[in-house]
Amino acid sequence: MAGLRIKKVWVDRRVETNGLTRQLLDRLAGQPVEIVDSVEAVRRFIRLHPDPVGEGKQHLFITSQPSFIRPCPCTPGCLGCGYWTIDLDLNCPFDCSYCILQDYLNLQPLTVAVNRDELCSELEVFFRQKPSGIIRIGTGELADSLALDQLTGNSVFLMEIFRDRPGCWLELKSKAGLPPALLQVRPADNLVLAWSLNPQVVIDSEEKGTAGLEERLAAAAWAVTHGYRVGFHFDPILHYPGWRLDYERVVESIFRLVPVEAIAWVSLGSLRFPPGLLPLARRRFPQSRIYEHEFTRSAEGKYRYPRPLRQWLYNQLADMFAGFGAEDRLYLCMETVEVWQEFSAKIKRGRRNFTFPFPWQC
Ligand code: SF4
Repeated sequence: MAGLRIKKVWVDRRVETNGLTRQLLDRLAGQPVEIVDSVEAVRRFIRLHPDPVGEGKQHLFITSQPSFIRPCPCTPGCLGCGYWTIDLDLNCPFDCSYCILQDYLNLQPLTVAVNRDELCSELEVFFRQKPSGIIRIGTGELADSLALDQLTGNSVFLMEIFRDRPGCWLELKSKAGLPPALLQVRPADNLVLAWSLNPQVVIDSEEKGTAGLEERLAAAAWAVTHGYRVGFHFDPILHYPGWRLDYERVVESIFRLVPVEAIAWVSLGSLRFPPGLLPLARRRFPQSRIYEHEFTRSAEGKYRYPRPLRQWLYNQLADMFAGFGAEDRLYLCMETVEVWQEFSAKIKRGRRNFTFPFPWQC
């Protein structure tokens, strides 16, 4: 568990005797442990620290979740991609300067849910009642899907539940390396292992604690060699002097290691953030320059790069992927209909053999 630093383990009294709780405590043997009635006890402790967000990333709370599955809310005014989320873990041990969880999950410790029986029951209902067509669902919305995997073993556990559910594609999205456990099992056809990518210069300055670019790409290459499909997320794309060359090198590196056919999808999303993140991020990452840019405030209240710039960034990335015959793997995350319309006209022109139609591509 490279990079994982846990100062204390807090156990929700309701799950004290749960089998997975006992396993987690065995794996974390030697750490101080306290049994508490609710997350409020952990929050009271974290709140006393000068950097409660950073402190929360070093306290592990073992608990149960009341429910797990929900449609991704996307953003009002944007075109959704029909994604669903499983909120199994909450928060992340990594510390990215742009991470919206700093604002959304303020005072939330690293949280692991152990009531897997309830998750399985909820998934059974979901599989029975899911909308027709292909569903994409993932655990990477409120957490990094693989950051705690060597502790929880969630990746293999979830893959086995999704195995032989052909209409449901499970995505595990991460900035960590590849958990060895995934190389010891037979890959499921409908599992996509996805890595968020940025140039190494951005990783160095903005993505504290995460695996480097080479390690993420090597993980993807290993996964493909083992028979997994992979995905990539360029999100957030950052605009700075020299960005184009840096991103071009990342795209070239992908295709040096991973064949187009193994890539399920690639998302593009530019930097955006709610107003509440700005003072937090400026205080926590005073050296970061990513907020020193022109932004416009969109109807739903988030700050974004101006639309012509976003459109230009996406078109540039589309051209880079077109150079490898892969522009038809692209889609946009949390973008407006207008930006989508111009972008989809561009990628449709290049579309060839992609057999996974997103709703907006049909
Ligand atoms: S890896 Fe993702 S979830 Fe974790 S801090 Fe970075 S942006 Fe947030």
